[in-house]
Amino acid sequence: MKVENLELISWTSGLTSAGLNSIQSYKLYLNGKLASRNIPYVEFENELLQIDVCEECFTVGCSSGGYVQILKSGDTVIWKQPLVTARSRLITGAYILNYGSIYWPAERFYSFLEVFRCNEKKLSEGITPMQGIDLWAIHGNKSMKTGVGLNYPLERLEENFLVVYSDVFSNEESFDVYKRARKRLGSYKQCNLIEIPHKAININVMFDIDGCGIWDCLYIMDEEIVYSIGDGYGLVFV
Ligand SMILES: [Zn+2]
Repeated sequence: MKVENLELISWTSGLTSAGLNSIQSYKLYLNGKLASRNIPYVEFENELLQIDVCEECFTVGCSSGGYVQILKSGDTVIWKQPLVTARSRLITGAYILNYGSIYWPAERFYSFLEVFRCNEKKLSEGITPMQGIDLWAIHGNKSMKTGVGLNYPLERLEENFLVVYSDVFSNEESFDVYKRARKRLGSYKQCNLIEIPHKAININVMFDIDGCGIWDCLYIMDEEIVYSIGDGYGLVFV
């Protein structure tokens, strides 16, 4: 989901079971969808941010859910399902991530941070190849409609491939492109975020499960493979 519209609605708690009263907080809506019921303050732990905070004690980290992993590349800030290796303890992703990764124009994200008097300099620049592969797999998972908070590894998605196809290549050639893209994943050193141009050739995956969407998996742009991560964004690895 690309963030077009951001709304922070302030609210005040009643007496909580932790004995707190009249705590100021916010609810966050992104594009009109409720993204968080309780953000009293913003606190990063490395790349992790809890956007749904415990409504009894209003302390970040009290509950294990409601987390996003924040990445930044140029003018775009990404909220994604926390990468397994980024977790120092057991945490789960925020509910809003069931719509897929969330892409913010950086300026809009900074205006969100400003409300909480938080400094954007805490964001490190760039996406590692491992995070990039994760974004790609997450997009595949959302296309296959895996369950809430569930992300299968690529191997598991591939078990459910029905056909890999494109408008330009045969199914066999399309599958060869997929296999090539997949094989190269281990060898990348750098990962760049791009907006996929309209003229790029699309390689799609159809799954063998009823009700699944089509995964617009890869694009070919000037003979280069672009890994699609949703909302018109792609990754070029080198
Ligand atoms: Zn609590």
